[in-house]
Amino acid sequence: MQNLWNDSHAEKLVEDYAKKGVARDLALRVYTTRLLGGEPRLVLHGGGNTSLKTTTTDILGREWEVLCVKGSGWDMGVIEPAGLPAVKMDTLLAARSLGTLGDEDMVAMQRASLIDPGSPNPSIETLLHAFLPQKFVDHTHSTAILALVDQQDSEALCKKVFGAKMGFVPYIKPGFDLAKAAADIYDANPQVDGLILDKHGIFTFAETAKDAYDLMIQYVTMAEDYVARNGKAPFKPVALPAQPAAPAEIEPYLRGAIAIPEGDGKFGRMVCDFRTSPKILDYVNADTAEELATRGVSTPDLSIRIKTGPMVLPAPEAGKLDQYGKVIREKVAEYAARYKNYFETNNAADDVERTMLDTMPRLTLVRGLGLFGHGRSMKEAKIAADVGEMLVEAVTGAEAIGSFHPLALSDLFELEYWSLEQAKLASNKPKPLSGQVALVTGGAGAIGAATAKLFAAQGAHVVVVDLDEAKAQAAAKQAGNASIGVGADVTDPAAVRAAFDRARAVFGGVDIVVSNAGAAWEGKIGELDDATLRKSFELNFFAHQSVAQNAVRLFKQQGTGGVLLFNASKQAVNPGANFGAYGLPKAATLFLSRQYALDYGSIGVRSNAVNADRIRSGLLTDEMIASRSTSRGLSEKDYMGGNLLGLEVRAEDVAQAFLHQALAERTTADVTTVDGGNIAAALR
Ligand SMILES: [Zn+2]
Repeated sequence: MQNLWNDSHAEKLVEDYAKKGVARDLALRVYTTRLLGGEPRLVLHGGGNTSLKTTTTDILGREWEVLCVKGSGWDMGVIEPAGLPAVKMDTLLAARSLGTLGDEDMVAMQRASLIDPGSPNPSIETLLHAFLPQKFVDHTHSTAILALVDQQDSEALCKKVFGAKMGFVPYIKPGFDLAKAAADIYDANPQVDGLILDKHGIFTFAETAKDAYDLMIQYVTMAEDYVARNGKAPFKPVALPAQPAAPAEIEPYLRGAIAIPEGDGKFGRMVCDFRTSPKILDYVNADTAEELATRGVSTPDLSIRIKTGPMVLPAPEAGKLDQYGKVIREKVAEYAARYKNYFETNNAADDVERTMLDTMPRLTLVRGLGLFGHGRSMKEAKIAADVGEMLVEAVTGAEAIGSFHPLALSDLFELEYWSLEQAKLASNKPKPLSGQVALVTGGAGAIGAATAKLFAAQGAHVVVVDLDEAKAQAAAKQAGNASIGVGADVTDPAAVRAAFDRARAVFGGVDIVVSNAGAAWEGKIGELDDATLRKSFELNFFAHQSVAQNAVRLFKQQGTGGVLLFNASKQAVNPGANFGAYGLPKAATLFLSRQYALDYGSIGVRSNAVNADRIRSGLLTDEMIASRSTSRGLSEKDYMGGNLLGLEVRAEDVAQAFLHQALAERTTADVTTVDGGNIAAALR
């Protein structure tokens, strides 16, 4: 592994932080923490930590010996001094004399000893850092080290590879007991450069940031070299179909099958993140992949991301997707049954009351294709995929030099259901639309953009579709939550199909469609030229039909219902003079909405429409408002508020109505009016 220490980079950071009053040691602690955290083969999503022993002054000017240790919730790759909260050393050291210390008490003690009570929780490995005497302590879950410690004879192997310069600590769950055991092993031989933690990772330590980092890279490189020198090709591939299906083609089936059933036709949906590479393919195609997946994970804290390991699916064949969808459901049922059995068996082993987590996989290996990470958000799905890639790396190494023999599932259970780990996830409460994918057409217009923004704020990932790709992307950026913008002319069925394909490839499918794109043409109906009326029908009716058809195609593959929402407009029920070209197709679209409600209610698809009027938008521009209000002798305010409530109706009000319809689980074939009150246009 390349040593990335760079004197001038380090000094530059020291100088920059000095201007902000950060001491040299802490600045260098930040520097090497970032070097370690930037390398996924060392540290991944919270799996690893660093510390510094130094002094600091509190608000009263008193000086304290402290341990600055990684705080939970901080990513080492981008850490700042605030991510290394200072904990009073005397309390931490005093804890070593205790016989036992429960996890909650340990956390409480650490929090009570913070210099700044507003700091994040110090790492659960804080005591281990404190009990080692060196100024700088580094800890990673290096995949190369894991290849060595995830072996039956890991202790002998580590002695052989590292000699006497590394201590060896048998597996103990992180916390007080591990800290004490590791400190005792260190004290028995203080000449060591670091400690290898069986089935878990590595610590190195020194008096300077550079030396501790150098030792980490040195020992990780020794492990890498051992694997490279002694490794044989570990996997025999299975036979694959001549014509495999594409990853995106299976995603809706997979996504639907792993949606967490919440009863009454409700689901906790997840999105998917796909990865592939020659290394991933060697692994997923291995004849042993299914059996390896049942052995466990390479380092125990991965269990909070991917449970006991991945689900493995056979290779999908092109053109046989519906059949493959059934295979996925069988495999998901098997995975869930195995997980339930794992929970029940291990839960019965003591008197602690626990609630079983959902039984769905977070990592799926598909032979012939690669791996999918799953999560209630794109961020979680990407974390699961990152973790999957490092699992592949570590297990491949372990199988190359011997046989992957990770922590037993009974010990893994203790960690997965550990209150401190569960607390980390509990702060991540899903929002009403978490895990759902919403596609909004006309998404860069006033109503579309307001809807995209509101849905994203409620947890949905939005695919903003607009004729103007740049504007679609800008609206997606405005909406946030990893939403994407796609350029498409919705009157072109191929472009609509391509937009849905994009949603499927990026997120795995679609759950909610807001068919909103539209435009108005004026003219007395008897004198209207045929081409204008047909053009309006293309956009204001047929485009809605092609959007809805594509949505239903994916809804059926997912098997988790779905929501169709149409922008119907007041014209659909209350024609305005000279607006026939607009009102006629909108009236047809209102009935289209009802037809979908009727034909697909039995598979859980709800279809509703919003009937809005007089919204400041591309259809009713500021100039139009100015000229119409003037011609009626009204102020702009009175013109826009010309309704029963006397209030201008905004695009955000329409977005709110779409959100209501998306969430109203017992509402279908409905029309919601958003016009401030207009009795002539009220629905009967
Ligand atoms: Zn660790």
